[in-house]
Amino acid sequence: MAVDEWLDSPRLLLRLALVPALAWLTYAWGAHAATLFCARRGDPSSRRIALTFDDGPDPVHTPRVLDLLDGLGARGTFFVVGDRAARARAVVAETAARGHEVASHGWSHANLWVCGPRRTWREIERSHALIGEITGRPPTHFRPPWGAVNAAMFPLLRRVGERCVLWSIQPEGLRPVTAPVQVDRVLSAAHPGAIVDLHDAEGTSGAPERLIEALPRMVAGLRASGYELTTVTEVLGGLRTPAVLTTPEQGST
Ligand SMILES: [Zn+2]
Repeated sequence: MAVDEWLDSPRLLLRLALVPALAWLTYAWGAHAATLFCARRGDPSSRRIALTFDDGPDPVHTPRVLDLLDGLGARGTFFVVGDRAARARAVVAETAARGHEVASHGWSHANLWVCGPRRTWREIERSHALIGEITGRPPTHFRPPWGAVNAAMFPLLRRVGERCVLWSIQPEGLRPVTAPVQVDRVLSAAHPGAIVDLHDAEGTSGAPERLIEALPRMVAGLRASGYELTTVTEVLGGLRTPAVLTTPEQGST
């Protein structure tokens, strides 16, 4: 085949198109093999469960969730979105002051599948810095939005001393699930070291309202089964092995 003919051949065009497609598949999908290193559940030998709350802070719903947790004697972990935290700093400060863990859910809730390394770093670093500034304690856990990771995320998380945390129980996914059904799902799936994924903001339409309805029965049911409801840090306990390379000004414990 002559060079001109070869250059115009559909096979060459196909090959050229395949290169970036394969590169993206490796960067985004290939990295999902590494989610094996993300924490999905904690210490199976202790009767502790971590309730986690994504996508806040919400100036209306998050304070109601905090009041509920206080009244129920439960603590939780709030995976906050940086740009929302910047608009509701007092809610984040209050969350930490009441003894809950504040963790990172990225800066703008971007899907990391479509973020290059530079954007991925901005998503991680900006949120990390802001949470540390507001609470006096830099976050040590990160939940990628939708659980979508890329190959750049893991080394960048190590740089700020955060560990990827997913979940073992998710009572509501992409479609709304009524509060009673969510309670049933959590209670029937409960196990030692469970990490439960809930939403105090955003999520599917009406998710925070359903959470507020479900929370009292969810907590009471878990308690009745002998579970202590505490933070991700405590639930991960001895299983937690993050490589902390930098520790920007540690706050008081
Ligand atoms: Zn989210």
